[in-house]
Amino acid sequence: MTAHANADQLKDRKPGDAVDSIALNEQDFGDNPIEVRESDHYAQEYVGGLVDKWDDLINWKKRARSEGNFFVDQLKARGVETVLDVATGTGFHSARLVEEGFDTVSADGSPQMLAKAFQNGLEYGGHVLRVVHADWRWLNQDVHGEYDAIICLGNSFTHLFNEHDRRKALAEFYSMLKPDGVLILDQRNYDSILDGVAGSNRTYYYCGDQVSAEPDHVDDGLARYKYTFPDGSQYFLNMFPLRKDYTRGLLRNVGFQRIDTYGDFQQTDGSTTPDYFIHVAEKTYRTAEELAELDAAGPNAA
Ligand code: SAM
Repeated sequence: MTAHANADQLKDRKPGDAVDSIALNEQDFGDNPIEVRESDHYAQEYVGGLVDKWDDLINWKKRARSEGNFFVDQLKARGVETVLDVATGTGFHSARLVEEGFDTVSADGSPQMLAKAFQNGLEYGGHVLRVVHADWRWLNQDVHGEYDAIICLGNSFTHLFNEHDRRKALAEFYSMLKPDGVLILDQRNYDSILDGVAGSNRTYYYCGDQVSAEPDHVDDGLARYKYTFPDGSQYFLNMFPLRKDYTRGLLRNVGFQRIDTYGDFQQTDGSTTPDYFIHVAEKTYRTAEELAELDAAGPNAA
C-alpha cells in the first residue's frame, strides 16, 4: 500500500502547500483520499512506483494489437503530418506515431512520466522523443507552433476536476490546431459505471495480464480507481467521471465542429456498451445545415 507520500518531503507540509512532484516517490492522497478532487493533483499521482509499473498496466504489445491502426488511420485519412501528444504518459502513442513517420511533439504535466517516455522512446525503436513539460491549462506558454492534430489519449482528460479547467484546456488545444486540424480525445465509458451498467474493464487500454484495475469509489464527482500489481503493491488514481454527451457538448462549445464518437475503436449505433469512447473533433468550419446532415449520417451518437 503506497498511498502516502515519502516522509522526508511531506513531514513539514501544511495543508495547501505545494509539493514538488518530481521528488515524490510515493503517491500522496492525504488523510481523506475521496476528498481529493483537484485538477492539480495528477502530478502527485503519477510518481515513483506507479510510473515504473505503468507499462505493466498497459502492456505495449497487447495495446498495439487491440488498438490496431485506428489512430494512425484517422490521422492519415486527414493528411496529418504534425502531431502534439498532450498526454504523453510513458510514451506509447508518441513512440508509435514517430515510428509511423509523424512529426510528433510529446507533452505532459508529469515530469516523471515524461522522463519514462523519453527512456521508452529510446528503448522501443531508438527514437529521441521531443518531450515538453506542460500543463494543458496553460499549454501555449510552454509549447509553441500549430499542429495538424492533437491527441489526448488513455483516459487522461478525466484528470480535470472542474468545468473551468476543462474549457480552458480545450481552448488551448483548439488554438494550437491548424484551421483544418483534428483533436482526438478518449475517455472511459463513465456513463455505464455511473448508471451501474458495467464495472471495470481493461480489455482495450489496460492490457497487462497481471494487473487489476477496479473502481474503489464512484460518485458523480469522483471515480477513484485502485490498481493492484502482482507484487501486491496498490496505487490509486482519482478521476472525474465524464459523461460522454457532456464531453461532446464541451467540445462543441469550445468551437469544434464535426465530432464523431467511436466506442472501442468501432462505429457504434448505441446498442452495445463500450469500455471507452473516442471523440474525433474537427476544427474545420461547417455551416449549421452541414453539421446537422453530418450528425444525422455519422457515428456521432455512439
Ligand atoms: N496517454 C498515456 C497513455 O495512454 O498511456 C498516458 C495516460 S495517463 C492515464 C494520463 C496522463 O495525463 C498522465 O501522464 C498525466 O501526467 C497527464 N495529465 C493529467 N492531467 C494533466 C494536465 N492538466 N496537464 C498535462 N498533463 C496532464
